Amino acid sequence: MNCYEQNVPPVREARLKVGDTFGGGVQELLTCCREGCLLQKNRSFWQAGSCMMNGAMMMAATVEKSAVVVHSPGGCAAQMHFLSFQTSKGMSRRGKPNVPVPWLSTNLTEADVIGGGEQKLRDTIRRADEAFRPEIIFVVNTCAPAIIGDDVEEVVRQARLEVSADVVSLHCPGFKSRVFASAYDMFYHGLLRGLALSPKAWTDYRPIDDNDPAAALKWQQYEYQKAHTVNVWNATSIGSDDEKEIERLLSALGLAVRFYAEYSSRDELRQVSEAALNVSMCDVHDDYILKFLEEKFGTPYVIAGMPVGFRHTREWLLAVARPLGLEKEANALADCEEKLAREAIAPFADIVRGKRVLMYGGAVRVGVEATVMAELGLEVLGIRTYHYDEGADEVFEDVKRVTPKSVVSISTQLFEMTHQVKTLKPDLVIAHNGTQGYMAKLGVVSVQLFDSDKAFFGYAGLYQILRRIAFEFKNTSYRDRLSRHIRLPYRQTYFEGDTFRYIKN
Ligand code: SF4
Repeated sequence: MNCYEQNVPPVREARLKVGDTFGGGVQELLTCCREGCLLQKNRSFWQAGSCMMNGAMMMAATVEKSAVVVHSPGGCAAQMHFLSFQTSKGMSRRGKPNVPVPWLSTNLTEADVIGGGEQKLRDTIRRADEAFRPEIIFVVNTCAPAIIGDDVEEVVRQARLEVSADVVSLHCPGFKSRVFASAYDMFYHGLLRGLALSPKAWTDYRPIDDNDPAAALKWQQYEYQKAHTVNVWNATSIGSDDEKEIERLLSALGLAVRFYAEYSSRDELRQVSEAALNVSMCDVHDDYILKFLEEKFGTPYVIAGMPVGFRHTREWLLAVARPLGLEKEANALADCEEKLAREAIAPFADIVRGKRVLMYGGAVRVGVEATVMAELGLEVLGIRTYHYDEGADEVFEDVKRVTPKSVVSISTQLFEMTHQVKTLKPDLVIAHNGTQGYMAKLGVVSVQLFDSDKAFFGYAGLYQILRRIAFEFKNTSYRDRLSRHIRLPYRQTYFEGDTFRYIKN
């Protein structure tokens, strides 16, 4: 039985060479990942961890006309307050109805943990169906029911016979994986097991009657359309402006572009099989579903890094264009776009050149962006990534070539980041969103590595990030003054030791 046939998918630790703890050089990281020692690394002190359930819920909340049922004690679903706001904004930026995603928690109590929570789950799914009439109900399975052994899959199977919505189970108890990226696989596993990913006759299309004199022409039209359509797989960190930039570039090659799976509806998801190519925008995000779609529908896929900066955008465009026979056009497009963009970024490139930068974020995005910055003349002191798996090897081979002296850290730990900021003394930090407040307290100029309200991909993205960096250097007085008046929760002696002192091999 392959993993797509199992009720519960494997976590990344079981599927890939992966790790969340490392400090050292780029070559050391690549060797450590290949030899499998990354998984053995640990810390003697953890400040915080991440929960993959949050990631799965974050993706589910973006699906149009869905409802989320979180099978958990009350606390696990707390993030939905924030997610609901974020996803309704994402919907409206994509021209979709701006409605908050309905969500319910089974609110398991001590008595439920002793006696089992299956009945509560059954009732909550029914309630979600009756009250909100969603097209899809995502059932999120968390730590407590997974530990007590609630048969969530059986409850979901029975619910499918009773409710009008499609019911999709997401098995993502946080304790099962230390790697947040496991969430992507859990979400995609739920989709591929719980939804139809190909169109229904008479609902989505009128079948072609082979006795129709125009049948041959209709088949040709269908084949042509499919051959010129690509599915591009997005992520929560990829904003609508990024999607617009990618659509602009691929449309210039004559392709129709559909974005999946976030901000899609059930009807749109049924069109997944109707494309010539599935294209990833991040090496460590989509391989699970893209391999499934190749196996199930024979649709080839492309995983070719992230379209950030001149070189990577050209390589990504060429990787998409190659299987479609559009390589020449893609090169011509990149030549034209680069010429325009080089003129546009020239004033900012002069300001950022020579700056010393520390970078922090998801493995692929931070690795690719680090090479872009290094090629623009910045000195990349360090690269911090939340997790690392073998999917990012190609990106980090490139990092090794472009900026071999950068220190690489795999860490979700803020105390290690603070140590690096204090000891490496960067002029600039380019970091994951949510960290800008800490950077301001440390008195360092910082910009976000991604922001779902702005573009980072393609030529527009390069222009925008450089403009933001240049803007941040114009006036640093707020950060300078704030850092003089903030007391950090660390003793000075902490900064005198090694950043990675708590890492155990
Ligand atoms: S780790 Fe478990 S209990 Fe904690 S939020 Fe995640 S699913 Fe809930």
